[in-house]
Amino acid sequence: MKKFVFVLMIAFCLPLFLVGCSTTSELNSYKIEAIYDDQSQTLDCVQKIDYVNNSESVLNEVCFFLYANAFAEGQTTVPNSYTNRAYPNGESFGNLEFESVQIDGQDVSFSVSEEKNILTVSLIQELFPQEKVEIYMMYTINLANINHRLGYGNNAVNFGNFFPIACVYEDGVGFVKNQFSASGDPFYSDVSNFNVSISYPEDYVLASSGELISQSVMDGQTTSVCKGEDIRDFCFVLSKDFQVISDNVGEIEIKYYFYDDANAQTHLKTSVDAVTTFQNLFGKYPYSQLSVVQTNFCFGGMEYPNLVMISDDVEQEAENYVIVHEIAHQWWYGIVGNNEYEDSWIDEGLTEFSTALFFEQNREYGLDYDIIMENATDAYKNFVSIFTNINGDVDESMERNLSQFNTEPEYVNCVYTKGMLLFDNLRQSMSEKKFFNCLRNYYKDYKFKNSSSEKLIESFCHSANSNLESYFAAWLSGEVVFQ
Ligand SMILES: [Zn+2]
Repeated sequence: MKKFVFVLMIAFCLPLFLVGCSTTSELNSYKIEAIYDDQSQTLDCVQKIDYVNNSESVLNEVCFFLYANAFAEGQTTVPNSYTNRAYPNGESFGNLEFESVQIDGQDVSFSVSEEKNILTVSLIQELFPQEKVEIYMMYTINLANINHRLGYGNNAVNFGNFFPIACVYEDGVGFVKNQFSASGDPFYSDVSNFNVSISYPEDYVLASSGELISQSVMDGQTTSVCKGEDIRDFCFVLSKDFQVISDNVGEIEIKYYFYDDANAQTHLKTSVDAVTTFQNLFGKYPYSQLSVVQTNFCFGGMEYPNLVMISDDVEQEAENYVIVHEIAHQWWYGIVGNNEYEDSWIDEGLTEFSTALFFEQNREYGLDYDIIMENATDAYKNFVSIFTNINGDVDESMERNLSQFNTEPEYVNCVYTKGMLLFDNLRQSMSEKKFFNCLRNYYKDYKFKNSSSEKLIESFCHSANSNLESYFAAWLSGEVVFQ
């Protein structure tokens, strides 16, 4: 996700430094049939998951993350400073209600945690390693009127993180049950296969993850079927006002959906340049399409596999930056995954750094890599100075989960800014060839998998043929101080 860093910079008088294959048989498969009703603002879903036990343990239950409940009354859905941007028509709530959960045609017991974030489905029989179980769910999502990942705004309806998604099972840990977080992206999932059928009134235009394999219209309803392989989530956006323009990077179709953009062709070109640049720097984008989607969104943008949301509220001078940032997430989050709740520095740090690399490679955009780094360093020093003055101390550690950041500026500075500087400083410490080998090998080794702090460090040490553990430890712990 990209925050509105410009607002934070104004707030703290900071200088302007700115101006994401396994064999398919082993993956979980999701088949979802969803019907959107724009009168009741609901999404009725029937979902079948072929869940594969890829752990070394025998399972009695399977857990799912229920992000749709992050919009329920009583949850802290957005940081306070974003409330006005989030709710276009006043406070509004949403949630997910289950009708039934079944295995082999019979109802099974299930429970939703007190925080409403986790669904636990009890299995009828023990599931041994490499065995598969088909779990059926019927549920209704009630949409909030909110400019957020999931909800309807004045121009578009966002369906990000809408469906129950299997929690990642880590051996020795069990199912990883992330909390909701108003700040950052509290997501963590395994690469899976998707077949999603979406029905909606025919005057809407659909943008989605995966690729469209069929579309039909009957009785005023359009039904679109989308297929996505080797992706870790599935998202779609609907709008009556979408115009679509497209271009190609090799065999990849880049589509730009917009409803209010005088510079649409420019933003399509930025998207094309971003995919071209990141393929050259890190490795191939392994899908057939990428949709860049202007929508109602309270932050700058949001990344999903094959689809990025770009807020229609981004300041004009930041539009290219946000587009490039969200597209970089296709490599860092999308293709190479990590637990974004526990290790947000990995995906956001690499993404912010990759964005700076884009401007270094594409000088016609008018942003200078060295100046980006200098300004980021100054901004970070200012953050430390201001917060030390206010609180007497500031926690500069990066390896914290989202709930452990005390303030929004602390999260943005420690994760985005310091994350970017960590990779820039590492770059300065070795040859260009070695450094880019680290990035390319990391991408290759963790493509379609989940990384972690330990795995990233181990990969970089191996590629650089050098012990970088103390370097990473100093940065992550907060020991590194800018003078
Ligand atoms: Zn981001």
